Amino acid sequence: MHIQIQCCGIVLMLVLFYFYMRQKRISLNTQKAFLSVFWATFICIAVDILSIETIKYQHIFPELFVKFAAKSYLVTLLGVALSALAYMYVDIYTREDIHRQKMRKYLILAGIAVLGTYAVPIHFHYAEDGKSVMYTHGPSLYVTYGMALVFFVTIFYLLKKEKAKINPRRREAVCIWLLVWIASSQIQFMYTEILIVGYAGSIGIMVLYLKLENPETNLDRSTGLFNSGALYQYTRQLYAMDEDFSTLVILFENNAYQNVPLKKRDRIRMEIAEYLLKLPDTLTFKAAEDEFFILFPDTRSAEEKTSEIRKRFQSGWGEGSTCLVQPCWLYLPHSNVVDQAEDLLYLVRYHRQGSKEFSDSDFLSIGEDSVAQMNQERETEQLILEAMENNRVEVYYQPIFSTCEQRFTSAEALTRIRDKEGNIIPPGVFIDIAEENGMILRFGEIVFEKVCLFIQKHPPEQYGLHYIEVNLSVVQCAYEHLAQDYISIMEKHSIDPRYINLEITESASTNAKRTLLDNMETLIKYGVHFSLDDFGTGQSNLNYIVDMPVELVKFDRSMTNAYFENQKAKYVMDAAIHMIHGMNLQIVSEGIETAEQYQTMEDLEISYIQGYYFSKPLPENDFIHFLENRH
Ligand code: C2E
Ligand code: MG
Ligand code: MG
Repeated sequence: MHIQIQCCGIVLMLVLFYFYMRQKRISLNTQKAFLSVFWATFICIAVDILSIETIKYQHIFPELFVKFAAKSYLVTLLGVALSALAYMYVDIYTREDIHRQKMRKYLILAGIAVLGTYAVPIHFHYAEDGKSVMYTHGPSLYVTYGMALVFFVTIFYLLKKEKAKINPRRREAVCIWLLVWIASSQIQFMYTEILIVGYAGSIGIMVLYLKLENPETNLDRSTGLFNSGALYQYTRQLYAMDEDFSTLVILFENNAYQNVPLKKRDRIRMEIAEYLLKLPDTLTFKAAEDEFFILFPDTRSAEEKTSEIRKRFQSGWGEGSTCLVQPCWLYLPHSNVVDQAEDLLYLVRYHRQGSKEFSDSDFLSIGEDSVAQMNQERETEQLILEAMENNRVEVYYQPIFSTCEQRFTSAEALTRIRDKEGNIIPPGVFIDIAEENGMILRFGEIVFEKVCLFIQKHPPEQYGLHYIEVNLSVVQCAYEHLAQDYISIMEKHSIDPRYINLEITESASTNAKRTLLDNMETLIKYGVHFSLDDFGTGQSNLNYIVDMPVELVKFDRSMTNAYFENQKAKYVMDAAIHMIHGMNLQIVSEGIETAEQYQTMEDLEISYIQGYYFSKPLPENDFIHFLENRH
């Protein structure tokens, strides 16, 4: 009987351990649990060797000792099964106290099984006639195998039941590990001369190591800092353990490297990473290409170190410290303003996107207010999503009066959403958020489709309307498939395009403007008309009127109101009216609330009037009644 296979297992594990210890690691509970499985397997193989040798040389050793060694091997098998179970529980329940509590009953069961294993008899068979045969049998084995089976079945059960909570890579690795064990014990059962269970255990450990416990998978290769996966696992663990910590995020937006030549950037980033790596009592993670997270155990050290780091950045990097890097800083003094790692990461994303808040300074401290705002926006996001999914997007119509025809000749479609309780939410609450997260594309289509259905149901000319104005968001304007999508919707509902007037506002970027112009060209060819909305708010200026093929210019409420309050505004509006009329375009004045305001606008030869003076935006049916009564 040879023990070479077992020895190979021992060597393999020692090599793995060498690599494991050489790597830079963070203290993760799962890694501690992995080490337990590792040592349990290692001891199991070592005791296996001892047991084989004592059985082989049973004539030298006292019988009691030989039996003790054989039973100890069985007990170590239980240890492996138990540590594997603990390894699963750590992943499911990150909180240490909970997984300890969950493991307690299995520990008691294991304790009883250990006592049972030592108490009942064991027999072994050994013969070396041609090929060596060795096996143990007897009640001691049944106790151990029975209990190990309970543990393995529990692991399989957990893998299935807690699927959602277990990291999928861990599930896969543990499954492979268990299958290797089961297959090897099956082989050993059939061919008693091959004692491979111990070796299979070490192969299993190698699978776990390679698939998930290799500390290198937590490292960013280029900088040697911990990576985003490690950040998530580690912060998840800190939250699970209710540990408050402080975070500093360094954001290397493009403008951070204003005077750093492109070629040098990588070297500078390495230098920064090396500096951060050496900071004592901190953990630094490279969460994304341009985002470093530094975690501090408490606010006092966080504040001291933050000012130290910022000072270091002021003194420049690279050769002769000539390169200044000016990143943005996000500082979170207390991690417990949010409840979980996902929210912490979301919070940073959220503040990055809203980087307008950085406009005045490059340092932003996140407190409860910012979190409240973020949560509010998340709720709104949810509200929009639910409204879209459950057909709770509504369209109201505000009539527009023609001063020439002295009747209502058009209307503006204005959206609202209804929440679960039936309350109406105005667009001011959700349009910006829908624009930020891109939902506005789908949302805009829903509104447009509803307007088309309305036109289909109530042909506008029956009510004296020439067209319906529909708002387009800047995000939609910059979407290259907008024209095609809107044309498809009109075709689907057989809508004559002359009934549609789309309101645009000014886009900031030239690229977006180019796409908008392409969209407009296609839609105008199809027969749709355009207005320029929000004139006088800074969203739209005279230049834009010159460049854009619009037929109507809509004066924003703030502009018309200023006309009545401010002499300067009056001059501006008079000049604007003159110029717009000069370009042969017509004007809609929004926000007209009184007869006096109406009269003034009419005297200024404004073609169309929109405002509460006539009507607020109305739900579909009310709007139809309004038109029927007025005509
Ligand atoms: P807007 O396109 O400039 O629409 C005019 C807004 O002024 C409407 O507010 C309207 O109710 C309000 N208004 C009209 N007359 C008066 C008045 O006499 N007094 C006062 N105090 N307000 C008046 P609403 O419906 O809350 O819409 C606000 C903004 O939301 C719209 O401004 C538009 O930019 C956006 N919006 C509304 N519906 C949509 C939509 O379907 N898509 C997109 N992208 N934006 C929309
Ligand atoms: Mg509008
Ligand atoms: Mg407007």
